[in-house]
Amino acid sequence: SFDAEVSASQQRELPGIKNIVAIGSGKGGVGKSTVAANLAASLALEGAAVGLLDADIYGPSQAKMFAVEGKRLMADDEKRIIPLRNYGVKLISIANLVEDGQALTWRGPILHGTLTQLLKQTVWGELDYLLVDLPPGTGDVQLSLSQLVPVTGALLVTTPQDVALMDVRRAYTMFRKTHVPVLGVIENMAYYALPDGTRDYIFGEGGARRFAEAEGLEVLGEIPINRAVREAGDGGAPLVVAAPESPDAQALRRAARIL
Ligand code: ADP
Repeated sequence: SFDAEVSASQQRELPGIKNIVAIGSGKGGVGKSTVAANLAASLALEGAAVGLLDADIYGPSQAKMFAVEGKRLMADDEKRIIPLRNYGVKLISIANLVEDGQALTWRGPILHGTLTQLLKQTVWGELDYLLVDLPPGTGDVQLSLSQLVPVTGALLVTTPQDVALMDVRRAYTMFRKTHVPVLGVIENMAYYALPDGTRDYIFGEGGARRFAEAEGLEVLGEIPINRAVREAGDGGAPLVVAAPESPDAQALRRAARIL
């Protein structure tokens, strides 16, 4: 049942959820979760009803970025999970359901079951957007998501580095094979802004743009590597909440507006 080709008949719409947007990357550590957190908070700031499902089994970090780490989940009368909530975003993470690190050893069928539970037994209510923070790469979670629900589209996060681009190309191919439209690319850690106003292209220059142009995709944002981005996330608030006026927060807000 884990063929890359998805039979549309297996998919079931989630009632009340208008758009399901997957946030993917090739490599880990490129800032996919950070970008997903900022996009979710940005959409909430625009007035949209937003949910964020952290399905990154290798490093579920959304609870920390939304300052709800360690909070106990409650269930409603029908034993459905009530998501946590902060900055206008309803949040649930795979980390909430399992012991630390347990999901790392799971194979496809168990991941499929857990993802099904998170998607379908959570009290999401009416949502304009449900963002799904995927694990890096092209594994079982990606396939399961595309089999379970109609995914409106996917965003790809990459750094400009060659090794990251090689991997993001694979992720792009997987989304195409599973008939998930790719909405665009966000280049993270695009450069470091030096005090004299020049840019240090630490991971190389323009890599995401070259990849995007080759595939006919749009680059939706170029986010520099910046201490404030990291500190905001570690401090329990995405940059767009922690420092809304900063240029990088503005760039993230603009990227969210295409959704
Ligand atoms: P991924 O989800 O791709 O594994 P994360 O979002 O967890 O990546 O980011 C990896 C690390 O890099 C985190 O410590 C995060 O705070 C940091 N980070 C992400 N984007 C930036 C950025 N633009 N500037 C500085 N640090 C960043």
